[in-house]
Amino acid sequence: MDASALLNQSVLVLNRNWIAVHICDARRALVLLYQDLARAVTENYETLNFDSWRALSQAAADRAVIHTPRYPLMIPQVIKLVAYNRFPPLHVRFSRRNIYYRDRYQCQYCGAKPPHEEMTIDHIVPRSRGGKTCWENVVLACSACNARKGNRMLAECNMSLIRKPRKPHWLLGSRPDASPDTRPLWQKFIDEAYWNVALEE
Ligand SMILES: [Zn+2]
Repeated sequence: MDASALLNQSVLVLNRNWIAVHICDARRALVLLYQDLARAVTENYETLNFDSWRALSQAAADRAVIHTPRYPLMIPQVIKLVAYNRFPPLHVRFSRRNIYYRDRYQCQYCGAKPPHEEMTIDHIVPRSRGGKTCWENVVLACSACNARKGNRMLAECNMSLIRKPRKPHWLLGSRPDASPDTRPLWQKFIDEAYWNVALEE
């Protein structure tokens, strides 16, 4: 991988309480590290400042490193902010694409996975009965289930949901290289629900 691709890699940002709050690119992560605003997090939960990280990078020539004029530098997978939170919390956008993604391209009534264009977005409490268009009230449905349900409430048509719909994790729909395969260390800091969705993609 060339240097610019490495510098564009995603790095998970933790706040000082070890909570994942953001994703930035490696370029910004290294700058924060250099400015002593963040520490690199290792697999053993050590937090290394720039000099320690640089020393570790020297001994890891086989790993993904970028070569600055004077020394090699590894790209950290995770950094931890030293002081206050410099990143505003992220929110996942309420969009058609993200509803598909959250519901794993699967009808939430019968579990079928028809072609994407045959899926519909169903209001659990129908709009005609005051149902809102929000994360908690919409699910993917195949056209058969959608037709069967019609304008009824769940109890009236004896149908049930595979999963209770909720607002997804903020990482959903974020940078495309943020997958468990490429970022094993991230899994220690992000709840399982997110990875389960990402893995089935
Ligand atoms: Zn269905």
